[in-house]
Amino acid sequence: MSSLSSAAADLRKQLSGQLLEPGAPTYDDVRRVHNGAIDKRPALIARCLGAADVADAVRLARAEGLEIAVRGGGHNVAGRASVEGGMMIDLSLMRQVVVDPAGRTATAGGGTLWREFNRETQQFGLATTGGVVSSTGVAGLTLAGGFGWLMPRFGMALDNLRAATMVLADGRVAHVDAASHPDLFWAIRGGGGNFGVAATLEFQLHEVGPIVTGGLVVHPGPRARDLLRFFREQARDLPDEAFIVAAMLFAPDGSGMKVAAIGAQHSGPLAAGEAFARPIKAFGPPVMDVLGPMPYVASNMMLDDSFQKGARNYWKSHFLHDLSDGAIDALLVQYDRLPTPLSQIVIEHFHGAATRVPVADTAYALRDSGFNVLLVAQWTDPRDDDRCADWCRAAYASLQPFISPRRYANYLNDDDLRDPINLTSMYGANLPRLRQVKKQFDPDNAFHLNLNIPPG
Ligand SMILES: Cc1cc2nc3c(=O)[nH]c(=O)nc-3n(C[C@H](O)[C@H](O)[C@H](O)COP(=O)(O)OP(=O)(O)OC[C@H]3O[C@@H](n4cnc5c(N)ncnc54)[C@H](O)[C@@H]3O)c2cc1C
Repeated sequence: MSSLSSAAADLRKQLSGQLLEPGAPTYDDVRRVHNGAIDKRPALIARCLGAADVADAVRLARAEGLEIAVRGGGHNVAGRASVEGGMMIDLSLMRQVVVDPAGRTATAGGGTLWREFNRETQQFGLATTGGVVSSTGVAGLTLAGGFGWLMPRFGMALDNLRAATMVLADGRVAHVDAASHPDLFWAIRGGGGNFGVAATLEFQLHEVGPIVTGGLVVHPGPRARDLLRFFREQARDLPDEAFIVAAMLFAPDGSGMKVAAIGAQHSGPLAAGEAFARPIKAFGPPVMDVLGPMPYVASNMMLDDSFQKGARNYWKSHFLHDLSDGAIDALLVQYDRLPTPLSQIVIEHFHGAATRVPVADTAYALRDSGFNVLLVAQWTDPRDDDRCADWCRAAYASLQPFISPRRYANYLNDDDLRDPINLTSMYGANLPRLRQVKKQFDPDNAFHLNLNIPPG
């Protein structure tokens, strides 16, 4: 018996969860992540049920020299949740959400999805900032930023993180919060999966809903230029309760018609939401208008169908301080060239509470107001792989005259990470301190399949 087989046999006896190897009946299902273009085959998949399982899996991987990948929600389009030939630490069975309504906190397992988190917290009329798309994982999204509908009102997801149970690189389990581990707690709020595995995450909650003003207003594609200019004007003076996003895409009905849409949510009183929605609804005759009162949970799920698990994905993104006429023109050229009906261009507006947190307060550096442009190539036929990635890269290149120095870490591809300038564009002035904390807690860089910070 090889050293790995005997270590795996020992681990199997220890785990409360399961240990899968290639050939196990569920292996192929479990190794799949959101992006269907990712096809990695881990040597072992530890399906953990708690921090102790994670700690044992980390120790085995390190002893056997296996690369470690951590799967939270599995949504990262770069496929960092899996690994070829290494150890996948799969947290997808750890999805319990426990709400403390009196303390206004919720503790979520490291594999929880936002839709599960929102469902539980809304039982008490509470919520915190989560992803715009509800099938995204709580852990990966939060540890590297986390923007969503409530971001202008309550900050990024990471601004609402109060504590985490972390499994560190040496297998120790630590309760990490501001009082017990100030440096590590600072670093996990923006430093991604670099510092350990979050077995649980505890969040601050706020009163939201259950009914908010939310939805979409959709216009014909030829109105895209006017719509983007209108979107820019609306963005100038938004209250903290409001978040808006613009998208240029194909109608989902298979007609091949191109459309341009504004998605919006206002989480304040419904009368204020109605006043916020009025100009958006009045912008020309739409092909569809579903902006109005709706459950907070439904508003968080309304974009989910555009991002089906298993579709192939290649994304590029950059932050823009201004949505200038030149940037709009460049985006419209790329809109004309969208490579497949599932592809789209999304513009997310950053403002409010998330932009008022000083950069040094957390490891997360993108605190500017402005527009995050996301170029989404999405397709199903592997023969389109090159064509779709080529469109995305060319579209990204055409945006270069308009970009700011910042990039949103959670959207970056592995080819982006090859350029060291992107470490600075993600972490900014926080990079030297992050490298020091990395050296203290993971000097051998055991956790490197992430937005990797080299130990200082
Ligand atoms: C359809 C779609 C919509 C999205 N919408 C948004 C959005 O609205 N807002 C936004 O901010 N981002 C969004 N994202 C990006 C998203 O934040 C990232 O893809 C994020 O990595 C997803 O987290 P996950 O847990 O699902 O990822 P995974 O693929 O599981 O992991 C991603 C990274 O996080 C690390 N990680 C995951 N879980 C843990 C853990 N428990 N402990 C330590 N490290 C961990 C992994 O090691 C890996 O490096 C979206 C992505 C997709 C595909």
